[in-house]
Amino acid sequence: MKTSIATVSISGALDAKLRAIAAAGYDGAEIFENDLLSTHLSAREIAALVADLGLTCTMFQPFRDLEGLPDAQRSRAFDRLERKFDTMEELGTDLLLVCSSCSPQAESERGCLLADLAEAGERAARRGLRIGYEALAWGRHVNDHRDAWALVRDVDHPALGLVLDSFHSLSRGIPSSSIGDIRADKLFLVQVADAPLLRMDHLQWSRHFRCMPGQGEFPLDDWAEAIRRIGYRGYWSLEIFNDRFRAGSASSVALDGYRSLRLLEGGIERPVASAAALPPRVATSGVEFIEFAASHDEAQALGAMLRPLGFVPTARHRSKDVTRWQQGEINLVINCEPEGLAHSFDVVHGASVCAIGLAVDDVAGALARADALRVPRFEQAVAPDEWPIPSVRGVGGSLLYFVDGASRAEMWAHEFPHRLEAPLPPRIGGIDHVAQTMQFEEFLSWLLFYVALLDVRKTPQLEIADPMGLVQSQAVEAPGGAVRFTLNGSLASQSLSSRFIQNYFGAGVQHIAFACPDIFAAADAAIAGGIERLEIPRNYYDDLEARWGLEPELIEAMAQRDILYDRDGDTEYFQFYTRAFARRVFFELVERRGYAGYGAVNAPIRLAAQARHKPEQID
Ligand code: MG
Ligand code: MG
Repeated sequence: MKTSIATVSISGALDAKLRAIAAAGYDGAEIFENDLLSTHLSAREIAALVADLGLTCTMFQPFRDLEGLPDAQRSRAFDRLERKFDTMEELGTDLLLVCSSCSPQAESERGCLLADLAEAGERAARRGLRIGYEALAWGRHVNDHRDAWALVRDVDHPALGLVLDSFHSLSRGIPSSSIGDIRADKLFLVQVADAPLLRMDHLQWSRHFRCMPGQGEFPLDDWAEAIRRIGYRGYWSLEIFNDRFRAGSASSVALDGYRSLRLLEGGIERPVASAAALPPRVATSGVEFIEFAASHDEAQALGAMLRPLGFVPTARHRSKDVTRWQQGEINLVINCEPEGLAHSFDVVHGASVCAIGLAVDDVAGALARADALRVPRFEQAVAPDEWPIPSVRGVGGSLLYFVDGASRAEMWAHEFPHRLEAPLPPRIGGIDHVAQTMQFEEFLSWLLFYVALLDVRKTPQLEIADPMGLVQSQAVEAPGGAVRFTLNGSLASQSLSSRFIQNYFGAGVQHIAFACPDIFAAADAAIAGGIERLEIPRNYYDDLEARWGLEPELIEAMAQRDILYDRDGDTEYFQFYTRAFARRVFFELVERRGYAGYGAVNAPIRLAAQARHKPEQID
């Protein structure tokens, strides 16, 4: 796949954007006219920079309101066009994007449109240039790529072709099968954007909600497959208008974009057979361990929370100040080393989760996928007798380890030979989900990280009311729920999520939910063991009774233990929250009776309880 990105997609001055685009690995860049108008460099200097950076200028854009105008305006429009051709010659690109007209003066008469497009093609050809015609979703008379294609086909001029933009086609629900009618030699450029499915004005939707492939909900796999099938060999160019990306760093947004194009190439929701270059997404069978960085005092406090939940310290690391806590299949590792990544994590964030280990079938394949997506690996010096566990950088600088599923028992025995206490019979079945909190601006970036790297599906986006603002929430889930991460991005600086981020100095794990076969028994044992739990107001239970008509005994059993409840059809969900440890991380017990969600309806109750309940415990 030849990759390109429109300069409008990222922040900064044009020269800085181009450097970020080259560094991220793209083959080309579309230059947006506003970026050129606002740079201190001349078009020739930009052309030289583009060449120095090893990029191709794939297109100059946009040119608006050309076709269908009455005579007086028509000649002005063609004068404007010639001026743009002058600029293009200096910029060193031969392709100009002409968007379908939005002018109220534009006529719909097909003969006029054909004549105008033919003239544009003829004028471009005289100067060795080409025109790419694009149907805007809000074009006045042409707003469907099928109509734009019919015009381009009927004009049949070698210098006039089509630009397909996924947003304009998919926002209008135009079937991708219609791409099969387009001739590959007439498809001059493909522009790519994803978007959430919204019901709103197309222009506003496009200007503010476009996102990268894999971050939204458009059926891009079908769309891309239809384009590949006609034999298109040109550039795939991201064109993303999104305020969040323009607020982010140019280099990280450029890198995300590159990653998203590679994801599209290999298939977002289903693998593309022809994309042999991209190793398959990482299949994981579960969370093998969660590692906390902590000082000795913090480790003690954390241990005092873990014991009532049923965990015991079972072993010490062969050479390091690291303890393994176990319950059934769950492994929690507490790292008190005075140096290394965990220590720097503890210094920066305080006691917190510094790493997550995923059990995978194919470690080498996982690393190859990460490399192809330019996910940075993390290398830390290992002693000669240490078990090597490769890792990559994940959310907030934490690590994501790839643990070989086949040899994990050997790994634990080798790394943690010093036995401590014997494990207890488990009350908890496994890790249900790990919740990570981040800034709203980086939310889509981490969503893309997970969907691109791992074999996971994303759930629909939700907005949760925090007592002090909105939180955007979405989960990524491995098949069968073997791994579930929930991502929360705060829209308001005073929300609890934001205060978590400020207190934590960055994005990270906010809570870990454990799956229980019997939440009432697990909660009773935790309470008897002295767990500090989140208190839920009586009003909540009165409302539950009214809403669901539950048995009073069940309501009472939940109220006594501060257990929250949700229902979806016949399925039920029970939740129990501990208070926050070290003001940052808390634990949740859940019992799923067929239920697939995360109790979003209860999140405002939980957040309000946390805000009320000794605020210093969470903020
Ligand atoms: Mg476009
Ligand atoms: Mg949860």
